[in-house]
Amino acid sequence: MTGFIHTAFLRTFFFISLCFSACAVLAEEVSIDDSLIQSIFPKATLIGEKQTGVPVQPVYQLQELLGYVFASNDLVNLPGFSGTRINLLIGIDTAGNVKGIRIINHHEPIFLHGLGPEPMLNFINQYEGLNVGQRVIVDSAAKNNPDDPSTVHVDGVTKATVSVIIINDTILLSSLKVARQLLSGFASSPLATPKEMYEEKSWQQLLEEGLVRQWRISQQTMADGFNIELDTFPGDTFDLSYDNFDVYYAYLNAPTIGRNLLGDSEYQRLMGILKPNEQAFLVMSEGFFSYLEDDFKPGTVANRISLTQNDLPFPMRDLNFYSYADQQLSAGMPESDDVQVFVVNTQSGFNPGDTMSLNLNIDIARNHLIRNQLHLHDDYSLPENLFDFAEAAVEEAPKAPWVRIWENRIVDISVLVVSLILVTLIFIFQHRLSANEKLFRWVRWSFLTYTLIFIGWLWQGQLSIVNIYPVLQSVINGFDINMYLMDPILFVLWSYVFVSLFIVGRGIFCGWLCPFGALQEMVGWVAKKLRIRQKKVPFDAHSKLWWVKYAILIGLVITSFASVRVAEIASEVEPFKTAITLQFVRTWPFVLYAIALLVAGLWINKFYCRYVCPLGAGLAVLGYFHAGEWLTRRKACGNPCTLCHHKCDIKAITPKGDINYNECVQCLECIVYYNNDDLCPPLKKAKRQEKAGRNEKQRKGDVEIYTPV
Ligand code: SF4
Ligand code: SF4
Repeated sequence: MTGFIHTAFLRTFFFISLCFSACAVLAEEVSIDDSLIQSIFPKATLIGEKQTGVPVQPVYQLQELLGYVFASNDLVNLPGFSGTRINLLIGIDTAGNVKGIRIINHHEPIFLHGLGPEPMLNFINQYEGLNVGQRVIVDSAAKNNPDDPSTVHVDGVTKATVSVIIINDTILLSSLKVARQLLSGFASSPLATPKEMYEEKSWQQLLEEGLVRQWRISQQTMADGFNIELDTFPGDTFDLSYDNFDVYYAYLNAPTIGRNLLGDSEYQRLMGILKPNEQAFLVMSEGFFSYLEDDFKPGTVANRISLTQNDLPFPMRDLNFYSYADQQLSAGMPESDDVQVFVVNTQSGFNPGDTMSLNLNIDIARNHLIRNQLHLHDDYSLPENLFDFAEAAVEEAPKAPWVRIWENRIVDISVLVVSLILVTLIFIFQHRLSANEKLFRWVRWSFLTYTLIFIGWLWQGQLSIVNIYPVLQSVINGFDINMYLMDPILFVLWSYVFVSLFIVGRGIFCGWLCPFGALQEMVGWVAKKLRIRQKKVPFDAHSKLWWVKYAILIGLVITSFASVRVAEIASEVEPFKTAITLQFVRTWPFVLYAIALLVAGLWINKFYCRYVCPLGAGLAVLGYFHAGEWLTRRKACGNPCTLCHHKCDIKAITPKGDINYNECVQCLECIVYYNNDDLCPPLKKAKRQEKAGRNEKQRKGDVEIYTPV
């Protein structure tokens, strides 16, 4: 009979596990390809390679930089509720506006197996259009104030507070990191602006001081670069009567350079044309080649030249400065047909005070089948005394996410701490309290109601086997306390339970602080009120079935080392997420399972706690070496009296009267009997004897009290 129950139970468990595996969704990693990036920047015509300096991919529409995309894991390290990072692909434009966010992968259990992916997507979509410089507050209750556009409120997700705070920080911190390094308005390093300083200098002086750069490329350099002699190209490609090809270029915004090169009036005209953030460069060349392609159209981006700075490319757009005006250039300048003024936009992160490189990208046809490419570059840096450097704004270091979470939940945390002090006092004064049966029952049911409603349903403080996986993983990956601090209710509860395990065993949690345990106890109460006859599981079978929960626990722990994702799914054997976290608002297989366990509790009190709960099993293992056995017993317990054995609803008292502390949930019911001379047979007998006038000595002899073992 026992063997049959055992086998049937295990089969049922594995069948249920299979059902859950089928119902649950594994989070697959999304690969970052051009189509995904294009879904963020639909106008993109060119998506650059990931940069080596700042790990972003620039996105262009033709030659215009639209923005950057980046994976948050390359920039920030914020573990989510599951202990692993939430990796997002984020796109921001050159003004720091979020263009779109896509989920690459995550392990947040609440979005994988609880609420589903939709609330997460809805939350993330709220960031589209927000500017990285805005202060974002996750707060469903607050409304945006039109007078304060610098602060925006986004709706949180009920039951996923920690996950959404981590997502928020992941988006903002990674975007801000990119913006500060690449976008001028967010630059954290000093941004250079040219001083209103002018010194008259000749062309020769400008050249000698490096204010105008002469980049000389010989025929040999070019031929070496192509790895082919220049005369093998069509005759009009190079004018080989020149030995060299000289490119001259200069930064015009600095008056000492711009005024000396262009003349005062032309410099003023240029400054009048330039838009804020635009930096102008004069470029010209002479010799056997030209930096301008044959089909170059004035007013467009030059294909053969571009600037780079810190590994980032900056297209140079022709200003068409000389379309209606004659050139009045500095005396002594070489004569050239291709003098042009180009602009670069600092909004895209360009800083004229930093070293930059001019790139020459040559792509020419040798014949109608073969093209040859060559990329050359030349560095240009200007003296610091030409610029004013803006001081980087000193910003207050942002508070760690967990600090903000604790501040927001200070009231909940305080109430929880007070309730933990209360339950400690109940244990310390258990005999005094249980002596008054009515008061004890009132205190106990009030506490269980508080546990279910506040700790469970309102604060989402149901401890779970899932909380243990990150601890197990930390054996391999290292311990990070920040991860555990993210949920203050769980942190405080786990801290208290962990300490109490080594003092009184698992019972203080299972009997008083477990919301699902409280719910089961309420179901047991309903069963008594409905006079449902309890199924009598023979003690022998009962004590064998205890081991099922340990088998489940071992299975889950082994699985968690093999695959946390699979272990998370297998953890659905716990009905906590359905009954407590999601309050039964879930797909039907999960709801059916949780209800089935509760219904089973109508006939077998706390059926789930007794035989299934891997968390209870884990706590029993940890609490095995608890400091003492606090539930007092008498000599008569077990022989001849077996009342407590029958009255213990979960049958943690053996027929011999011993308490199995691995099973006991410390409900203190047996202590109520122990202290009640109307219920406890030895006390009843003593009371009768006392009434009959027996002396005090005889009473003590009959009612010898065991000291705690
Ligand atoms: S055995 Fe499990 S469900 Fe029962 S009270 Fe303990 S932790 Fe909660
Ligand atoms: S009745 Fe006693 S032995 Fe049974 S669970 Fe409650 S405290 Fe433990």
